[in-house]
Amino acid sequence: MSGWHATVLTIYPGMFPGPLGLALAGRALESGLWRLDVRDMRDFASDRHRTVDDTPAGGGPGMVMKADIVAAAIDDAEAAGPQRPRILLSPRGAPLTQARVRALCEGPGAILVCGRFEGVDERVIEARGLEEVSLGDFVLSGGEIAALAVLDACVRLLPGVMGAEASASEESFEQGLLEYPHYTRPQVWEGRAIPDVLVSGDHGRVARWRRAEAERITRQRRPDLWASYSRLQGARLDNLEGFK
Ligand code: SAH
Repeated sequence: MSGWHATVLTIYPGMFPGPLGLALAGRALESGLWRLDVRDMRDFASDRHRTVDDTPAGGGPGMVMKADIVAAAIDDAEAAGPQRPRILLSPRGAPLTQARVRALCEGPGAILVCGRFEGVDERVIEARGLEEVSLGDFVLSGGEIAALAVLDACVRLLPGVMGAEASASEESFEQGLLEYPHYTRPQVWEGRAIPDVLVSGDHGRVARWRRAEAERITRQRRPDLWASYSRLQGARLDNLEGFK
């Protein structure tokens, strides 16, 4: 097996692997746990100036990436093997979630299209069935940093990439909650002590404290996550009632 396969389509191939060439993702790339192909979409232009954009129909500022160029780059990437999700990084997309990341990393890989200028011609989104994925409600100057973020989130979940497998399942979002607070030595720092329970050696109490803290932090910071977590817990309790 050649590993999880990412193809990035961009007009700035020099931005890759960038930070993904270092640390966890970089070591995994070197050892073949995943594979990264980066294609310059300008290679699919047919004119001397390697043009990938044109003025927006209907007028207005900026430029739009041409449908034929983006489609040719996608079709070329598809020829590489089994079908992979085709993702367009876009502020209009569904905000990326840990659930989507997990599903992506369990598949064969992904094709990531990085927009530039005002974005890409709507027709290529329809014609190639692109899934629009957003990093959040803010505007980047291009899809590259968003693609790096998607890849980083996926790669760290690939089998064999992270040292302690358990650490992934306890993290923020994996249980529908934000994570509990962490502490390490020294026992007292600037007059602040590590909570007693964490140095008690009582694993049951530690686990209950962590769960309670995760719930408190989620309730305070993310009412949206808290609402769906509470709904799920409610449904679990109802199920248990049914068995009585
Ligand atoms: N005119 C667009 C913004 C274009 S920004 C608008 O108003 O919606 C240029 C490119 O950056 C986009 O095509 C997309 O690929 C990328 N991009 C910008 N913000 C992003 C975000 N929040 N998430 C993912 N990609 C983003």
